[in-house]
Amino acid sequence: MKQVSYKGLNFVPYLDKETIQKRISQLGERITEDCRGRRPLFLCVLNGAFAFASDLFRAVDLPDAEISFIRLKSYEGTSSTGVVKEVLGLAEDISDRSVIVVEDIVDTGRTIANLVADLKKQNPREVKVATLLFKPESLKTDVVPDYVGFEIPSDFIIGYGLDLDGLARNLPDIWVLSPEHN
Ligand code: IMP
Ligand code: MG
Repeated sequence: MKQVSYKGLNFVPYLDKETIQKRISQLGERITEDCRGRRPLFLCVLNGAFAFASDLFRAVDLPDAEISFIRLKSYEGTSSTGVVKEVLGLAEDISDRSVIVVEDIVDTGRTIANLVADLKKQNPREVKVATLLFKPESLKTDVVPDYVGFEIPSDFIIGYGLDLDGLARNLPDIWVLSPEHN
């Protein structure tokens, strides 16, 4: 079977790039419909969401759409540290704007819950969350993402922006930790 290895861990194919792109086109169309006339600001959560944000933003057909970047970190190795820290702040004035937070994955939901709460203090018109991947069984907050690419089980995955300690973000497909490690 096809596999890739990082740090002694083996990963097997999970979502291929065509499947990912097809789904992103659908999300882009939905966001385009929902945000017409609204000058949305896409807020890409670095580092993991860079690939998804780049593809999603180009799948949105709105002349007034803008994109910006924020950097957060909450993970070490393959499990959440539970500590969410903001590394790089927001430069834009978001008052009265429709903000669409773009995340690679919502796991416990702590990262996104903290970020959404912080953003709401700045009086945006609304804050929506778009995530490529969502692990509903891991969710420990009441934040439910508005746009979800794929709901997945609580397995550890890499590729297409998602990393294992900084590695594997450049894989075009998404791979899951091999069941042999469980
Ligand atoms: P949360 O705060 O627990 O929802 O974690 C969200 C962050 O954890 C994401 O932005 C990812 O960086 C990271 N993360 C969660 N699950 C995975 C995974 O399966 N692979 C790689 N990173 C993950
Ligand atoms: Mg991340």
